[in-house]
Order: sequence, then C-alpha cells, then structure tokens
Amino acid sequence: MICKPNEHVILLGGGIAGLATGLELARKGRRVTIIEKGSVVGGLARTYVKGDFRFDVGGHRFHSPKPEIIGWVQDLMGADLLRVPRISHIYLQGKFVDYPVRFPNALSIFSPSQAAHVLSSYAAAAMRHRLNGHTPDVSFEDWVVKRFGRAMYDVFFGPYTEKVWGIPCKELSADWAAQRISLPNLSETVKRALVPGSEPPATIISHFWYPIAGFGMIPDRMASEIQRLGGRVITGAGVTGMVLLPDGRWQVSIEGKTGSDVLDGDRVISSIPLNLLLRALPAASGAHDIERDFQLTYRDMVLLFLALKLPGGRTQVSEDSWTYFPQPELLCGRTHEPRNWSDAMAPEGYTSLSAEVFTSRGETAWDTPDEQLVARAVREFESIGFLPANSLHDAWVLRVPFAYPVYYIGYADKVRTVKDFLASRFTNLHLVGRTGSFRYMNSDGVIEDALALTTYLTGERDEYIDVSRTYKVD
Ligand SMILES: Cc1cc2nc3c(=O)[nH]c(=O)nc-3n(C[C@H](O)[C@H](O)[C@H](O)COP(=O)(O)OP(=O)(O)OC[C@H]3O[C@@H](n4cnc5c(N)ncnc54)[C@H](O)[C@@H]3O)c2cc1C
Repeated sequence: MICKPNEHVILLGGGIAGLATGLELARKGRRVTIIEKGSVVGGLARTYVKGDFRFDVGGHRFHSPKPEIIGWVQDLMGADLLRVPRISHIYLQGKFVDYPVRFPNALSIFSPSQAAHVLSSYAAAAMRHRLNGHTPDVSFEDWVVKRFGRAMYDVFFGPYTEKVWGIPCKELSADWAAQRISLPNLSETVKRALVPGSEPPATIISHFWYPIAGFGMIPDRMASEIQRLGGRVITGAGVTGMVLLPDGRWQVSIEGKTGSDVLDGDRVISSIPLNLLLRALPAASGAHDIERDFQLTYRDMVLLFLALKLPGGRTQVSEDSWTYFPQPELLCGRTHEPRNWSDAMAPEGYTSLSAEVFTSRGETAWDTPDEQLVARAVREFESIGFLPANSLHDAWVLRVPFAYPVYYIGYADKVRTVKDFLASRFTNLHLVGRTGSFRYMNSDGVIEDALALTTYLTGERDEYIDVSRTYKVD
C-alpha cells in the first residue's frame, strides 16, 4: 500500500479529476483536502448560472463504454440523470448534414459526380490502407488521408480540425485522429451509399446521460459527498507554491481573495495544468527549467452564452445536441442548445445557445471585446439561416484557459520527459485527469483514471493502469 490509512492527501484542482480522486480516497478512509482556484468546483465540467439560464462549458454529455464507470456516476446521481438522444449536424456547403459524417447522408451536399469522386477516393484509400497500412502515421493529416482519401480529408476532416486547434493538421499528431475517429466499415459504407433508403451504420452512440440541472451537478455532488465524509473542499484559492520538507511531507501555499494559508500534507495529487504545477514546485528541484524547456501547450476557448427569445413562439433553434461550423470565416466552431438536453436549462418560452470560439490567449478572438464577439456571432448565424433575426435576449461571454491539451507532433516525448522528471524527484506527488496529466480524455476517462490511481495508491491493484493508452472518445 502506497497511501497509508492515516495520511492527509492534498488534491490540487477541484475539477472532475481532483474531486473523483478525493471522493474515492475519502471513501477509503483517507483525510483529503481539495484546493480549487475557481469560486466553485467543477473546472471544465462546471455549469454556469446566468440569470434564469444555465450553461455548461460547451455542452457536456456523459457516456462511457464501460458499465462500471456509468454505474459509478449513476450511484452518485441517483434519479437526477436524464437519458438524452444525440443528434448532431455539421454545416457544409450551405446544408446541415449528420455529424460524425455518415453515409449516404454526407454525400447529399455534392453533385452526383463530386459524390462519386469523394466515395471512390475513400474506397481506394481504405483499400490501400487494408493492404498496406502498417507504416506509422506522423500527423493527423497523414492518418486521415491514408484511411479516408484526400477528398474526404479536404471536405470533412481537415477544416474543422484546423479551426479547433488553430494549427495546420500537418503539425497535429496522428494520436489525435486515432483517439477520435472510428473507422467505418468500407463495404458497408459503399453498400449503404448505393442502396437508397439504407439506415446509416450505428458507429456512434445514439443517447447519453445528462444531469437534470446541468453537468455541473456531477462535480457539485462529488464535493458534497467528500464533505459529508469529513473531507475539506476549499474554493476560491489557488496553489502558489510547494515545499518538500526534510521529513518528506509537503507544505502547500495557497492564495485567494480572502488571504493566504499554508497546508501540510503527506501526499499531493495534482489535476491543475501541468505547467502551473511545475511553476509551483521548488525552483531548486529543476521543475522551472523543465517547464521552460518543454513548453506544453494548451488550447484555450471563448464561450458565448446566448439567451434567445425566438419569434412565433418557437422555443428551439434546432433539434441538435451539437451543431458544427467548420468554415474559418465563421467565428464560432460549434454550438449546443442546452434546452435540448434538459428543460431546466432555459426558462419557459426561451431557449439558448452556448457557442464555442476556438482561440487562445494572445489571438484576436480572445482579445476582442465581448459585445463585438456576440454581435458578430449573431450576425453570422442569422446570415446562414441558423438563427431568426432579432432573437437575442441577453448574452454573456466566458474566457476558458487550458481547455484542451494540444497534441502537437512530438508532444508525447515531451510529456514523458516531464512525467519521468516528476516521478524521479517526488515519490509522493501524482498526476491525475485530463488537464493535470496532459491527456485528452472526456469526464468518463477522467473518472476511470481517478479510480485507477486510487486503487493503485490504496493497494487494491499492484500497478497503475494508464487508461488514456486505450481511451477512445465515442
Ligand atoms: C468545450 C469542451 C467540451 C467538453 N465536452 C465534454 C463532454 O461532452 N463530455 C465529457 O465527458 N467531457 C467533455 N469535456 C471534457 C471534460 O470537461 C474534461 O474531461 C474534464 O472536465 C476534465 O477534468 P479535470 O479535472 O481533469 O480538469 P479541469 O476541469 O481542467 O480541472 C482542473 C482544475 O484545476 C483548477 N486550477 C487551475 N489552477 C489552479 C491552481 N493554481 N490552484 C488550484 N486549482 C487550480 C481549475 O480551476 C480546474 O477546476 C469537454 C471539455 C471541453 C473543453
């Protein structure tokens, strides 16, 4: 057993990772303290309340291919979980087609000859890949073109991916594609494209779970449970420094609006951005040099929360869970309509959109004043017929740093070096989750990671299993 029953464990970050790990340790009798910089817990999985409206950070659905992970969340949430249908479309060539791309619907945006070209380029690439697909892929572009053909890449995969990341797909690691894209069955795809009226293949989930008052109910419930079990949850205070005492215990300095404090702990588990952790560690350990030399990049985002009163008594913009806009000339890359997930997300007679702007600190969109961002987004949505004129009732803008770890080519070696450094210097410091360990995972993967870490620390398993190695987003 690594984490003894009498230990005090300090968890940096009160997102899903810190909370799920803290909750599992508290359930196993450990004394835990969560330190969260935000005014409330939840991190990326928080739900914001704005007037009578509720908004997630980009719409968070819950799904896992693993029944035990779904069961873990069901046990926590009881009857507060809704089952919601997943319906998504992508705006291409003036039309909304199913997303992720499904055939034959996806071909409806093309003329018959263009459609034949796209399909034949896909069929040829997929066949080549089957026969000779063992050469390693370096970039996202390599991965997709090899399996789906250039035409599919140019239309369906490239533009949206470049908009999300703000870098050419040649610079994005193939790992990203492998984790995100399920390969449809070629013969089935062609058959369904040619046989009129065929149903699209069921390659993606059709329903997901969603808490009745927003995804933030999940982290809120975890925090309440931790407190009920005697743990502490400190919000509104960020970690500013860490000292490893000669007896091996940690001293963690925190600072918030109400002042500063120093906490003593036997073990630290971090889910805060890896760069921030390295900067909080003692300079003499070499952590600051590692942080400077290995520059791990996170992608930020800006969210536009649009409260809407639609004309003619309508209360729905579309039936979509998400709608995707890959065009670089459009400000927003994706929208989500909270009311389609739970009626409790918007008041009677109104609806809303959470519109995502993919950007990073220092880029134009990040620095544009709020009202200009909102005016541009609404104008563009009206011009493409997505929003009726004069629908805007109110708006709020949220800037979200550290939204996604960026899988640049070469990122994996850098992350490995940073983690090896930490493991070799600090035996009682552990990383967990998506933001803290720089691994792209949704909340289900993060919870699975928290369970993998706690079972290892408490001696129920001999080794820590890195769930991100096999993790795939459905
Ligand atoms: C736009 C978007 C859409 C998503 N959609 C889905 C979805 O549909 N379904 C799904 O399951 N997942 C989704 N995710 C992923 C999900 O949000 C993450 O997997 C999960 O929330 C990550 O949790 P975490 O605890 O690892 O990280 P975080 O949520 O980033 O938690 C880190 C915490 O550390 C805190 N912190 C930072 N610095 C300090 C400091 N110095 N001191 C103390 N605390 C600090 C932060 O405030 C934050 O609360 C989405 C993510 C994004 C960005």
